[in-house]
Amino acid sequence: MSLENTKKTFTLSTGDKIPAIGLGTWQSKPNEVRDAVKVALQAGYRHIDTALAYGNEHEVGEGIRDSGVPREEIWITTKLDNTWHHRVEDGITSSLKSLGVDYVDLYLMHWPSSTDPNDTKKHLSDWNFVKTWQEMQKLPASGRVKNIGVSNFGIKNLEILLNDESCKTVPAVNQIELHPNQPSPKLLDYCKSKGIHCTAYSCLGSTDSPLYKDPTLNKIAEAKGKTPQQCLLMWGLQRGTSVIPKSVTASRIQKNLELDGWELTDDEFSQLSNLKDRFKVCGDSWLPVKVFFGDDE
Ligand code: NDP
Repeated sequence: MSLENTKKTFTLSTGDKIPAIGLGTWQSKPNEVRDAVKVALQAGYRHIDTALAYGNEHEVGEGIRDSGVPREEIWITTKLDNTWHHRVEDGITSSLKSLGVDYVDLYLMHWPSSTDPNDTKKHLSDWNFVKTWQEMQKLPASGRVKNIGVSNFGIKNLEILLNDESCKTVPAVNQIELHPNQPSPKLLDYCKSKGIHCTAYSCLGSTDSPLYKDPTLNKIAEAKGKTPQQCLLMWGLQRGTSVIPKSVTASRIQKNLELDGWELTDDEFSQLSNLKDRFKVCGDSWLPVKVFFGDDE
């Protein structure tokens, strides 16, 4: 077999190619993430996922420079914070400055929630995510953002966005929570029908993942001589999603990239696609608006 997943890319509607495997950086502390990014890039990762809200863009930028890998070989995704929806220009300017780069490959609206910066329990009274998208659509012309997309958008909010007459650019990507206990097949199909690529976040089930105790996953991993994490990543790749596992541990960063030359059989893939348990890492109870409507399953 010559399945070169580590070099695999998915082609977006814009024609740009997003590397299938990236390093996640949520909850990676400033003193850990610089090294994690460097280790990942030197191991062969070519895609780094960060966000203004993670408070680590500066260190991510340092890790990129430490790695010695040329900027143009790296795909950088960052995200517009909820409290910056009415200040899109300021948001991207801040991210580029923190990262120390001239452009990002992908700029995502982190959540469909335009939160009041003076009171994060409130939604901005004169704003909404459609207006935010109007501002984001202007960014690629400047060259500072190559692709624009969204995150945490379910079908209902995507419909609102896509059906608005101001929507001229279909989001290139929707970054959403996807793992076998949150597979969201309807949302995945919907995005596919609109030409929107999906990136799977919390693809391992996040911190203290309940998935690691799943007997079906462990049985498959053992039989294949792979780690449960590698099997979860392979499942994500075989679904046509890019995956962005987070780790600050060098050995895990390395192991998570050992995905060449093998794949899940149809039966293994189907077993993981049909696990019965459900959990969600990122809900919407902390936001001033509801964004998940249970219509994506
Ligand atoms: P992941 O599903 O990537 O899981 C990360 C956890 O798994 C960490 O505790 C990590 O530990 C551990 N881990 C990683 N690899 C292994 C391994 N091989 N063996 C054992 N444990 C392992 O969680 P995230 O929620 O961080 O999601 C991934 C990324 O997705 C985020 O970092 C972020 O970039 C993005 N994201 C985006 C969101 C959005 O709203 N758009 C929301 C959530 C995430 P350790 O680091 O200690 O090694």
